Amino acid sequence: MEQTFFIIKPDGVKRGLVGEVLKRIEQRGFTIEKLELRTKVSEELIDQHYQDLVGQSFYPPIREFMTSGPVLVGIISGPKVIETWRTMMGATRPEEALPGTIRGDFAKAAGENQAIQNVVHGSDSEESAKREIALWFEEWIGSINWLKAHLNRKYSHIKKKGLTSSFLILSFSSTHYSR
Ligand code: UDP
Ligand code: MG
Repeated sequence: MEQTFFIIKPDGVKRGLVGEVLKRIEQRGFTIEKLELRTKVSEELIDQHYQDLVGQSFYPPIREFMTSGPVLVGIISGPKVIETWRTMMGATRPEEALPGTIRGDFAKAAGENQAIQNVVHGSDSEESAKREIALWFEEWIGSINWLKAHLNRKYSHIKKKGLTSSFLILSFSSTHYSR
């Protein structure tokens, strides 16, 4: 059965929207396979989670927002759950999210230098779902990813000079085994 990964972000937990979001998941007939409250989420984990956004100038407020309080993370399953959950969440930008969607009903537009506080996350493809489920729930993959990110940051000057073998081995093992 198709699975996707979701987060009730710190704003959702703080505002007491956990019940509301879970109600919508159940109402829609999806199965909750896993559900965990994470009270301390590291910056490294968020950087790995948003690996495609890390280099963007607007990323630091997103890291700050996502580590600002407890999050609820989980796996849900059902037919076409990846696409359906994205539809139920609504558009990323609150001003574009339609009423009736979670973001359309609850998300707040970003203030100056702030992240968009849009209550929920959902994987955007089958590949992202697999990667995110492994990252958040398989501890040893999380550790390899953390080490990789750490080494990349610490030794970025060496990497630029072409001494990349250790990075290649680490990159290979983490991408290979997170599938
Ligand atoms: N985000 C933001 N400003 C931006 C783009 C993204 O604050 O200009 C935040 C927002 O919380 C969003 C998350 O980063 O949900 C991930 O961005 P993505 O484009 O992947 O949107 P999503 O998949 O969450 O709809
Ligand atoms: Mg996304």
